[in-house]
This record gives sequence, C-alpha cells and structure tokens, in this order.
Amino acid sequence: MLKCTQMSFVELKNVRYAYNRGSTSEVVAIKDLSFCVEKGEFVALVGHNGSGKSTVAKLLNGLLLPQSGTVTVDGMNTVSDNVGGSASDNIFEIRKKVGVVFQNPDNQTVASIIEDDVAFGPENLGLEPKEIRRRVDEALKSVGMYEYRERDPFRLSGGQKQRVAIAGILAIRPEVLVLDEATSMLDPKGKREIMDIVTRLNREEGMTVITITHFMDEAAMADKIIVLDDGEAILCGGKEVLTKGELLSGRGLDMPPAIRIADRLRKGGMPIGDVYTVRELTEELCRLL
Ligand code: ADP
Ligand code: MG
Repeated sequence: MLKCTQMSFVELKNVRYAYNRGSTSEVVAIKDLSFCVEKGEFVALVGHNGSGKSTVAKLLNGLLLPQSGTVTVDGMNTVSDNVGGSASDNIFEIRKKVGVVFQNPDNQTVASIIEDDVAFGPENLGLEPKEIRRRVDEALKSVGMYEYRERDPFRLSGGQKQRVAIAGILAIRPEVLVLDEATSMLDPKGKREIMDIVTRLNREEGMTVITITHFMDEAAMADKIIVLDDGEAILCGGKEVLTKGELLSGRGLDMPPAIRIADRLRKGGMPIGDVYTVRELTEELCRLL
C-alpha cells in the first residue's frame, strides 16, 4: 500500500514515537508509520483529532526524533548515525529543506514589523543582507503581503498573519512546505487564500507540499492522500481515497462536501462526472446547466 521508490525525497519507515516514554503517562502517538513523498508531490495527511498529525509534522523537520524506525529527508536521517537517539549533524540542513507552518499564526510571529518577521529565518541562515532583502521581498510578494511589509503583524487578520507566517518559511527557500492545520483558525476567505497560494506554489513552482488537515475539502486539493488513524496510516492513494465514505466515517472523517453533494445529485438523475472539490463541482454544474 505504501510503497516508496528507490529513494523518495521524504521517507518515514516504521516510525514509532511515544510522549513521556517509559513513564506511567506514556502516550504512543505514532505506532508504526511508513509513508513517502516524492519531490513535487502535493500530499494531504488527514486524520481525526489526536490521530498523530502534529507529531508527524514535528518528526518531519526533526523537532521530534523517532524512537524507532527512520525519518529521512533527501537521504538525510533526522537521527544521527553515530550516537543513537540524538539529532543528526544534518538537522540544520533538514530544517532548511522542510519548512513547517503551524496552526496558530500568533505563535509564529517574532517581530513587530512584518518584513523583520519574514527576515528572521534567512537571518538565522547567516545570509548577506542583500540576499535577505531579496528573499523577504520575493516571499512577501508570493503571498500577496508585500504592500503590508512595514506594518505591525499583530494588527493583521488571521488569514493575513498566516500568509506572513508562510512568507517567513518561504524566505528560507525550503524544498518541502508542511502545513499543520495552518488554515484551521481562519475564516472561509482566509482558508481559500492560503490554499490558493499553496496550490500555486505546488503547480507553478514545483514545491513539494504536505498539508495536514481534518478539512476534507482541503485534502481534496492534493494529489495523494494519506489517512492517519491512531498513529498508523490506514490508507494511501489518489483522490479515490476520498470517496471511501464508510471507511472514512469509521475513522472520524467525512467525504469532502463536493463528493457528497455530487453523489446526491447523481442519485437525483444528474449526470455529474468525477468531482472532488467545490470548485470542480461548480465547474461541472455550470457545464451541465
Ligand atoms: P493531532 O495533531 O492529529 O491532533 P497529535 O500528534 O497532536 O495529534 O497527538 C497525538 C497523540 O499524542 C494524542 O493522543 C495527544 O494527546 C498526544 N500528545 C500530543 N502532544 C503531546 C505531549 N506534548 N505530551 C503528551 N501527549 C501528547
Ligand atoms: Mg494537530
């Protein structure tokens, strides 16, 4: 089910991670998880609350280290080969390659001026001021926040804050962008803006995207879907995964709204083709009407 090519860009192999390991309060968050992501893929990792999604996000960039199994990024293991259990010497390189945007934009803001905030990552890479300037401007333009560059990030809307957080990650020029429920605190407009930016980065700039979400309509934008349940991947495949209604509902998930609506319309006699997202459903309806 979860076969990888010879050497995938991101690989988790039989990963286990428990919080408070060995104590009476031990929680096994990731039991035995394997999956892989190829360069340029747009992957959605879906799962109910507590299924282990955020733990995976942290394992991907070495914030957490697997207690057994391996996490590799571009061939680099997050755990050192020499001293068992400690972070690898490559961790700095791995964090440059894997940028993670978290749920709460307020926790990701460090400076009182937007452009300084976005500059934080590249400054930590020790880049020349001119190069930092270039990257900050480019990243802010890419998320449509360049005009706001001299403003205070705390006065922005949730969606704008999250766009700035994405710019801060883009300025590091990662090869993989991981979004951990990055739209969950946003209103529908903010959600759509973020997903449009991410889709464009993937389609036009070839950025590898891993979006972690319990919003199934967001998952429907991805090309590959991995369903996580209690720390294990129970399904992995193309968009057809999203049509497995019974299986998903047994794991606390729904089919995306567009698929459910299309099903009902088909039952009512409308010849609707395969659609997964609201946008596709709208286009299909326009075509038919
Ligand atoms: P998700 O992001 O899918 O909601 P998490 O990865 O946050 O899931 O959590 C997976 C499991 O690990 C849950 O049972 C959660 O309660 C537990 N967990 C998460 N973080 C911690 C922590 N810092 N200490 C103890 N248990 C934790
Ligand atoms: Mg989470």
